[in-house]
Amino acid sequence: MKPTLFISDLHLSDQRPDLVRAFFHFLDTQARDAEALYILGDLFDFWLGDDDDDDISQQVMGALQTLHQTGVKLFFLQGNRDFLVASGFAKLTGCALLDEETVIDLYGTPTLLMHGDTLCTDDVKYLEFRRKVQNPITQFIFRLLPLSVRKKIFYKVKTGSKTSQQQKSAMIMDVTEQAVIDVMQKHQVTRLIHGHTHRPTVHPATEKHGERIVLGDWDQNGWYLQVDADSRKLEKFAI
Ligand code: MN
Repeated sequence: MKPTLFISDLHLSDQRPDLVRAFFHFLDTQARDAEALYILGDLFDFWLGDDDDDDISQQVMGALQTLHQTGVKLFFLQGNRDFLVASGFAKLTGCALLDEETVIDLYGTPTLLMHGDTLCTDDVKYLEFRRKVQNPITQFIFRLLPLSVRKKIFYKVKTGSKTSQQQKSAMIMDVTEQAVIDVMQKHQVTRLIHGHTHRPTVHPATEKHGERIVLGDWDQNGWYLQVDADSRKLEKFAI
């Protein structure tokens, strides 16, 4: 039986051609032999809209489409950096878009998939920001702007917040246990898979909640979770 693979937090951009190469290699090797590939957010370092014309975006969409054409099922769940990924991306790549909390039957185990940012309930400032950018009206207006204007806004925000962003990325908050308990209870699942926190590990089930698997971010190493009927392994490789 072919395995199912999960990845997140690759943060692909033109700043890290090594990561892009590693991702293409991953798609050509491990992913090609998989039943399905789930991308649980932050595949891109940023995403300004499905009409983004930069080289990396185009190449990545092309590589996903090629994989999809070989028969591997593809799923995409938005992260906090690529929350503007939408139907245009899905149509081009063959990825099915997933809701921010999606339950799947993973070889008989009810499994909840999330990006993970909403589990970090101690990060009050971030959650406030998230509510603003996730507002449908804000997103509707932003999408209507020409790509060149969206790029300008993005670079302005990016340069302005560089210091705070650097400080922030060094200390992405961890999940709170209560948020994990609540969301797993809400969906009646015994397993949760998420990314975002850059703290890859398999947390065994406790008395309070089921197993929680945290995917790894790609930087010095690449990470993927491989699940089949009998096992689940968090794999790491050098980049
Ligand atoms: Mn994230």
